[in-house]
Amino acid sequence: MSGLQEEEQAIVELVAKFVEEEVRPVVQELEHTDTYPEALIEQMKAMGIFGLAIPRPYGEVGVSTACYAKVTEELARGWMSLAGAFGGHTVVSKLILQHGRQEQRERYLPRMATGELRATMALTEPGGGSDLQAMRTVARRDGDDYVVNGSKMWITNAERSQLTALLCRTDPHADPPHKGISILLVGKDPGFTVSRRLPKLGFKGVETCELVFEDFRAPADALLGAVEGKGFAQMMQGLEIGRVQVASRAVGVARAALDDALRYAQEREAFGKPIWKHQSIGNYLADMATKLKASQLLVRHAAERYDAGERSDMEAGMAKLFASEAAMEIALDAMRIHGGYGYSTEFDVERYFRDAPLMIIGEGTNEIQRNVIARQLVSRGGLDA
Ligand SMILES: Cc1cc2nc3c(=O)[nH]c(=O)nc-3n(C[C@H](O)[C@H](O)[C@H](O)COP(=O)(O)OP(=O)(O)OC[C@H]3O[C@@H](n4cnc5c(N)ncnc54)[C@H](O)[C@@H]3O)c2cc1C
Repeated sequence: MSGLQEEEQAIVELVAKFVEEEVRPVVQELEHTDTYPEALIEQMKAMGIFGLAIPRPYGEVGVSTACYAKVTEELARGWMSLAGAFGGHTVVSKLILQHGRQEQRERYLPRMATGELRATMALTEPGGGSDLQAMRTVARRDGDDYVVNGSKMWITNAERSQLTALLCRTDPHADPPHKGISILLVGKDPGFTVSRRLPKLGFKGVETCELVFEDFRAPADALLGAVEGKGFAQMMQGLEIGRVQVASRAVGVARAALDDALRYAQEREAFGKPIWKHQSIGNYLADMATKLKASQLLVRHAAERYDAGERSDMEAGMAKLFASEAAMEIALDAMRIHGGYGYSTEFDVERYFRDAPLMIIGEGTNEIQRNVIARQLVSRGGLDA
């Protein structure tokens, strides 16, 4: 039924158990004190979660993308922040796997698979995240080094990751501009400062920061791959898995919201009957479940296409667009069903309502997803061409 291999199903069940037994009892406290979930992250490392998208010989597990998506969904069902803590890490591992030199794969991937080395990606700048070709961070070649100057905005896990995939201009005069963009794999050496933590509506516990690069020197071999100027295309491909991950996070939040609402609607009574028997509430539940199921199927479709090695930006974009908009609506309807208690910080529903909007923004806004989908529809000659 799940379409996963038996061992993959066992991994998903293990993560679901972890969520029930370890995450749910502490999530309220961690969320409302905005505390980094150190112990839970350590458990996730021990469970091999940081390596799920890293195949052998570099990783030990290496599951299908459908399984990876299911694990992400389970974690987000417990607390979206936990799933968000390894989204960028996965994108960077795929970038290195698909575009890195052999020496880079061997240097980074085994330690990334265990979570000993955590990675993040730095694309967005204070001046904008959607128009990446307009970025201003420049890496100028100086002897055997690059000298980097610029700043990045909204970088998740910036404090706790030791490896950053930095999107920057290695040729500021390139025409078109994307041909002058490269990715550097950098550590936190002098000149690289995490300058500030950014306050957020949701996605609590995990830091999202501003980065500043001031005459930061990175060795020439920090370049991802063999040649400069490929970074934009590399990152666009990397974002395919990133968008599947964000869509799965949305599905997890939506599932939690539906589960809570379904339970509450059977327990709570008004006018002498459980509220789900009032047609308006029943209709909400029916619509929530239908949107959730459609989201899960779109994620599955994108994951299968990704694993088939086919271009999947349209499929990942559709999954991310639909699942994140659905999660917003489902979280709001769960709040309606809970009445006044939906607005209480003693219930989880208000957290879903604060976490859901991130998925309409992260990994490319939904306006940008629509641009991607429309462009692909035209260039592929239709939906099923
Ligand atoms: C909590 C959080 C964590 C994040 N983590 C990371 C991270 O780890 N790494 C990272 O690099 N980034 C990260 N981001 C940044 C995120 O990817 C960007 O916020 C997003 O890409 C949008 O960029 P922007 O905020 O600069 O908005 P802008 O690009 O300024 O867009 C503003 C508005 O204009 C719209 N718009 C812009 N261009 C177009 C267009 N061509 N067509 C239609 N509409 C358009 C946008 O959709 C949006 O509605 C994170 C953001 C948040 C909030």
